[in-house]
Amino acid sequence: MNQGRDAQGGASKVIQPEKVVVEDPPPEPDYPRYRVEPGIRASLAAIDPDETEHYRKKKDVAGELEKQRRRIQDLQERLYAENERGMLIVLQAMDTGGKDGTIKHVFGGINPQGCRVSSFKVPSAEEANHDFLWRYHKSVPAKGRIVIFNRSHYEDVLVVRVKNLVPEDIWRERYELINDFERGLTANGITVLKFFLHISKDEQKKRLQSRLDDPDKRWKFSSNDIQERAFWDAYQQAFEDALGNCSTEHAPWYIVPANKKWYRNLVVARTIADTLEAMDPRYPPPEDGLEKVRIPD
Ligand code: AMP
Ligand code: MG
Repeated sequence: MNQGRDAQGGASKVIQPEKVVVEDPPPEPDYPRYRVEPGIRASLAAIDPDETEHYRKKKDVAGELEKQRRRIQDLQERLYAENERGMLIVLQAMDTGGKDGTIKHVFGGINPQGCRVSSFKVPSAEEANHDFLWRYHKSVPAKGRIVIFNRSHYEDVLVVRVKNLVPEDIWRERYELINDFERGLTANGITVLKFFLHISKDEQKKRLQSRLDDPDKRWKFSSNDIQERAFWDAYQQAFEDALGNCSTEHAPWYIVPANKKWYRNLVVARTIADTLEAMDPRYPPPEDGLEKVRIPD
């Protein structure tokens, strides 16, 4: 059960959690097939954003999603109590890809103590004056914590590349720097999981339109999203390179079919729950002799 830990108590060997947790993992949802194997070119075209396996509608997965959410809640309590290791979850997607929705639906019931979301926007002047990893490194989880990156250090090989914000020789070197950074985290007991929420261009159009149509969603609409949409192909290419260059044994990428929000939530939740379970966090042992303790009146 404990094979996921390496000599330092880290979780860097957990690359196929579903095989660590149970001999014969239940096949659904079949998230291992969405893992980008290290050293293999990632192909977004090979994964259908509409994929839902045999599930047909949201109702089909409601019970299953709730089960995975409870597993995450329970395991997070243990991770927090153990206070030895942590988890970093990276969410990336095209605009409207569902990063916010995933956070809401997968982590909705989690104890806020021990869990944090860090969102990364255009770097501030102070951030831009430092090396590109500085602002991310400041936000990584401490022992016992789960941190979700809503956008991440990958923006520095995505938007930065597509919009030519730095010269090519600078961003090209970043894949290796990112791998080293993540390797350093895992060597210190932080398990790193990365999800690319994969939507189609048509689906993005629908979602942008609904942001325009629905008064309660208009705040999310940015005219900049229309300009970014024109760079769709360049972004897809940048994502393929990032996922292919930076899916490692210690910090895998998953390409999650995300046109159907409920299927996306299920795949992400199950992957996280199984990975946490493979880490096998434990409540610290109680003090000796507690059975003799009487609480005074
Ligand atoms: P949103 O997540 O919709 O609030 O938008 C945040 C914006 O910040 C997006 O347009 C990102 O492309 C942009 N952004 C995030 N990180 C960086 C970065 N490192 N360099 C430049 N732009 C970034
Ligand atoms: Mg936006």
